Amino acid sequence: RAKHSGRSTFAWYTSDMDADAQKRKEIEEGLEKALRLNQFQILYQPQYSLSDNKLKGYESLIRWHHPTKGTISPELFIPVAEDCGLIEDIGDWVLFNACHEAAGWEDKSLRVAVNVSAAQFKPQETERKVAQALAESGLAPERLEIEITESLLIANTDAVVETLNKIREMGVSIAMDDFGTGYSSLSYLSRFPFDKIKIDRTFIRTLGQETSTDAIVTAIIGLGRSLDVQITAEGVENMDQVILLRAAGCDLVQGYLYGRPGQVSDAPSVHVGKMGPNNAAPDLLYESES
Ligand code: C2E
Ligand code: MG
Ligand code: MG
Ligand code: MG
Repeated sequence: RAKHSGRSTFAWYTSDMDADAQKRKEIEEGLEKALRLNQFQILYQPQYSLSDNKLKGYESLIRWHHPTKGTISPELFIPVAEDCGLIEDIGDWVLFNACHEAAGWEDKSLRVAVNVSAAQFKPQETERKVAQALAESGLAPERLEIEITESLLIANTDAVVETLNKIREMGVSIAMDDFGTGYSSLSYLSRFPFDKIKIDRTFIRTLGQETSTDAIVTAIIGLGRSLDVQITAEGVENMDQVILLRAAGCDLVQGYLYGRPGQVSDAPSVHVGKMGPNNAAPDLLYESES
């Protein structure tokens, strides 16, 4: 009996892997096409200063509009792109287009943040591409922010830190994304002068509901203050979170409460709280929930 169940488990497991591999292959082939056929789009999610509710900039978030499957989430295709090497071309596309689009925004004080994944980061090449994107678009370097994650700093730290410093010397700011989820990491904070730390939304989600989360978020914000690093809270969805973040002295907020990823013209330059009953997030303004 044991043998039998072992075998059937194995069989089930393989067919599942086949389906997985098949799906990845499909995505991979689709991605090559997507680049050629211009099926990608950048949405922009607003970031507000918490103290005065003023719009400070946007994070660029890629979307893939598949001709038959509809819009595909980056959570699904970015990991595949990282594995098959297409992340470099996709990443270049985002960097150049985000810079071009931001250069055309009416308000020239607004920043644009671009996610650069560890798999796409190649020390000298990344530095050259950032410089090229700025030169070609005419975007002021101070308006560009590069978001990296802790995973980038694990391997090859010296070369990465050197490149980040060079990019920073251009005037571009560097943010650490998803802080607290990686292999933290406090040592990275002493090895590289980040301009910004983004607290991962898994911490923000349970803010006000768990004493431990409240303590961690408050501590990260305090750390930012002592290190003179700005702190952004990701995934802010309700007023309870805002109240706690304000009390803790958080600098910037980003989340559905303030605006979903969308068109830049849709985000007001000052956020006015227009919460519904129970401080529910505003209606889905730009992008439907997946
Ligand atoms: P991320 O860089 O941490 O981006 C924030 C994600 O949180 C976005 O998901 C955003 O839509 C979502 N989000 C923002 N506010 C809220 C909220 O209040 N509630 C909830 N539940 N979610 C919120 P998105 O756009 O699906 O992107 C997912 C991830 O895909 C990004 O996480 C990033 O790691 C990656 N990604 C997206 N665009 C790019 C890109 O152009 N290049 C690279 N390398 N990665 C990208
Ligand atoms: Mg990000
Ligand atoms: Mg993030
Ligand atoms: Mg994330």
